[in-house]
Amino acid sequence: MAADTEGKGAAGRRDLVVRAAVEQGLVGGADSAEPLACLLDGDGIRASAAALTAAFADALAPGTPVLHAFAVKAAPLVPVLRLLADAGLGCEVASPGELALARAAGVPAARTVLDSPAKTTAELREALALGIAVNADNRQELERLDALVAAAPTASPIGVRINPQTGAGAIDALSTATSTSKFGVALRDPGARAWLVRAFLDRPWLTRLHIHSGSQGVPLELIAQGVRELHALAEEINAAAGRRRIDTLDIGGGLPVNFASDEATPTYARYVSALREAVPALFDGSYGLVTEFGRSLLAKHGLVLARVEYTKSSGSRPIALTHAGVQLATRTAYAPAAWPVRILPYDAKGAPKAGDPVAQDVAGPACFAGDLLATGRELPLLAPGDLIGVPDTGAYFFTAHYGYNSLPRPAVHGFTVTPRGGVRFSLARPAQSAADIVAEAGGAFGDALL
Ligand SMILES: *Cc1c(COP(=O)(O)O)cnc(C)c1O
Repeated sequence: MAADTEGKGAAGRRDLVVRAAVEQGLVGGADSAEPLACLLDGDGIRASAAALTAAFADALAPGTPVLHAFAVKAAPLVPVLRLLADAGLGCEVASPGELALARAAGVPAARTVLDSPAKTTAELREALALGIAVNADNRQELERLDALVAAAPTASPIGVRINPQTGAGAIDALSTATSTSKFGVALRDPGARAWLVRAFLDRPWLTRLHIHSGSQGVPLELIAQGVRELHALAEEINAAAGRRRIDTLDIGGGLPVNFASDEATPTYARYVSALREAVPALFDGSYGLVTEFGRSLLAKHGLVLARVEYTKSSGSRPIALTHAGVQLATRTAYAPAAWPVRILPYDAKGAPKAGDPVAQDVAGPACFAGDLLATGRELPLLAPGDLIGVPDTGAYFFTAHYGYNSLPRPAVHGFTVTPRGGVRFSLARPAQSAADIVAEAGGAFGDALL
């Protein structure tokens, strides 16, 4: 992150942007204004992409091929993918939809990696025809690839995903490297290592190994330990082959994000030093590298702004009913202990709201009791027409919309701040209209069940 967007600087910049969003009519406290808007900081995204690129470039032997492929699921928006492509990044995709988004953003096949655990034969055939890198998840997928590779020549680099079985982080649902994880070939299972070595010796077209063992809640040292296992296996396979059969290691993403303050930690530089500690040879130039970061590139650069529509008290607990809830903070609503978010209070004009802290619930608009962004949170007492800001929501929040109650996908506006403090917004995704919702809900097939 650039120095001017850290700490107090980030808060000052955000306050400027909130004020501008209200003044420019993107969202507001007045009854006539939009009740909800989502903002993405284009400058911040660019700074994170640059920090990622620099952290690895500083450590890698000069000339080592490296591809930083953004994990599209973290923010599947074409303007985001195009911005990152402009900053030199590629895309990691895991579904036909994500591949279509990467292609719509103009990301070339040579900078795209396909990783899903349940690829159909048709998906694999398309990826091989396009020359997109493919990481096979399991033995049966590798057998499908045998047939496809024999049937038609391909430019796709092909690898195998392993699960190092190095253990869980703090959030079970996001831990990909448990002993029983659904992802990859389980490296420590009996016979697995020997089978993997054989699989590579038998298939001259297999040239990569892949791992993605990090995520929110996983310590950097544990992620680095997985990468060390990956590197050791590659060395073993190359020794058995008698040459550098594996030429590229895809080390995945999974850098956690700090949701507690504006500090952007842990940094990419800190992760690279954990990797250098655990597996120094990773950087010596014998292997090309692919990374697949998602959350750490986008999370800190997203902000939700939502109006407080009503306030009430229930069982003596003050409650603010807002327009931001489970539709854009799904994990927070269903697993609040694992996914706490900050709530920043603003008044109807978009100025920071001061006042004595009062414990209150901040609720969303959906019709289920767990639709809460915060419970018993100490904040200046919110009033109708105030706005709440929910920072750190650039990845897996409003970009992973949940259609409960037919709540519309909100508009997403990108912004940049000029050196003189002007804020320029540009629409990155329009709000879903009621007509869109009807169309996607079978509106054209109304008689289908009569
Ligand atoms: C989700 C995912 C990523 C990105 O993970 P982040 O935690 O967002 O960095 C990368 N690779 C694979 C295979 C994934 O499934």
